[in-house]
Amino acid sequence: MSTIIGIDLGTSTTEAAVIREGKPVMIVNLDNEVIIPSAVGIDDRGNWVVGERARAQFLLSPENTAIEVKRKIGTGEKIMLGKQSYTPVALSAKLLEYVKTYVSESLDEEITRAVISVPAYFDDIQRQETVKAGMTAGLQVERIINEPTAAALSYGLEHMEEESHILVYDLGGGTFDVTLLEMFDGVLEVKASGGDNKLGGRDFDEKLMEWLAGRFMEKHGVELRKNPYAMVKLKEEAERCKKALSTQDSYHVLVPMIVEKGGQPLALDELVTRKQFEEMTQELIERTHQPIDIVLADSGILPAEIDRIILVGGSTRMPLVAEDIKNYLNMDPSKAVNPDYAVAQGAAIQAGIIQGSIRQEESLVMTDVNPYTLGIRARDAMTDDRMSVVIPRNVTIPTTRSHIYYTSGDYQTMANIEVYQGESAIASSNHFLGDFVVHGIPAKKAGKEKINVQFSYNVNGMLEVRASILSTGAEASIEINMMDEKKDERIDVSGWKDSSLAKQFRTAIRRAERVLKNTEVQADHFLETALEERLYFLKKALVTEDLDAAEEAEEELIDMLDMLND
Ligand code: AMP
Repeated sequence: MSTIIGIDLGTSTTEAAVIREGKPVMIVNLDNEVIIPSAVGIDDRGNWVVGERARAQFLLSPENTAIEVKRKIGTGEKIMLGKQSYTPVALSAKLLEYVKTYVSESLDEEITRAVISVPAYFDDIQRQETVKAGMTAGLQVERIINEPTAAALSYGLEHMEEESHILVYDLGGGTFDVTLLEMFDGVLEVKASGGDNKLGGRDFDEKLMEWLAGRFMEKHGVELRKNPYAMVKLKEEAERCKKALSTQDSYHVLVPMIVEKGGQPLALDELVTRKQFEEMTQELIERTHQPIDIVLADSGILPAEIDRIILVGGSTRMPLVAEDIKNYLNMDPSKAVNPDYAVAQGAAIQAGIIQGSIRQEESLVMTDVNPYTLGIRARDAMTDDRMSVVIPRNVTIPTTRSHIYYTSGDYQTMANIEVYQGESAIASSNHFLGDFVVHGIPAKKAGKEKINVQFSYNVNGMLEVRASILSTGAEASIEINMMDEKKDERIDVSGWKDSSLAKQFRTAIRRAERVLKNTEVQADHFLETALEERLYFLKKALVTEDLDAAEEAEEELIDMLDMLND
């Protein structure tokens, strides 16, 4: 069986690990480095450069180099390298391809499978794009694992005998994640996770850059922020200064020729003390408090019940982090895991569990949480668009939950179950995941028939929704792969008539369009949406010239139209 590796695809750095003799081992590249800068670029001869070389190139030609691509994942934004634009998925794939290559060389085996970590706060689209980047790089992504879960897993393997509530505080380059896990008898269970995906080391660098640029303006009357070359220098120097201040009380920032004024070179020359740095970044640290509070509240744990705090991510090396946690939660964080390696090691442990290379008696059972509320669209006296929650956010998965609903219309014989994900009380403001119809409801007055809707969410991110009519036992269900990249791709189907298949399916489409004009159908929002969805899938199949999908969609559409006695 081919080896599965663990990859921590970080905002600023990327690491890979593998299980050897039951323990995670970090993997080095050809230059003997474990920590690979997450930078990708194109050099002046048009070749791809990745890692340390790309990071170095960024200083000289930022326009041909991309850093912190992870911040753009799932945003739909493109990244320019020279004159060419790239998707964040394509650039992440380049990074993963590089990892795949050096790991394959180091392990002397063609690596094709990986577990990749993502911030717990990543939404579905960001997770899907991460899977896509893996696939593009030729890696089968066996599992997406939350970074804090991975960190706790690497901690768990060393401390299996302990029973505790563990808080993982992960402040990386671009994201902050906080997760509460419970460990007992070697079972590691995620209670809740949250965070802020716009808070990380980079924001600390920016505070320092602002401050330094402000001082420079005061001294020389020159705006460094308007000069791209100076900004790159400033960024590099600010990060160096920040890192130095993690171990020193002060640091002398010196960039000899940062800009010219009237033909004369000017130097950036400033002494920065840790105290000054901490004052300027205090408000950033304080932004971690609210996510911590939410996670504690969601998991029903009091600060006093936390047994251990694990710090992960390069930015937790700043002394202010540990100090602030101690003040805020009244506990010293532990230094049991290496903040740079923990996530990759945890991903490798997860890989080892999937593969069976971690022996049973050593293995941890791991559970996770669903990061978003799941439910269906329901109708009540006030609205027909209420988000009725079946699985609340931050419930431990795998889980099965159900809810009983009453028929809402007189003599209603079918119900369309629309599944949504999200935190809004209005169903249609949330993310639509899929729908299906239960038929054969005995025709009775509204509220006389009951339908049991059951959601089962497994650890691989598969959601199964089942609805059964209590009086007859009749059932219908769908499976939604929460990692399925296709479900979200809504395309423009207006050009279906140009499809070579159009003729064959035109009758069904016309029939459905006629029914949709019927005012009775329009008055029933559930019915209308159900029909529109089926019609959309048929048109989409035509536009994409997919005969199998078209036949399947037509059958569903006709079933529904027949039921409406049209
Ligand atoms: P990560 O994404 O976990 O690799 O974290 C990277 C972030 O940690 C970057 O913003 C780095 O500047 C920051 N970082 C790394 N080492 C240190 C350090 N010694 N002190 C402060 N920040 C650091």
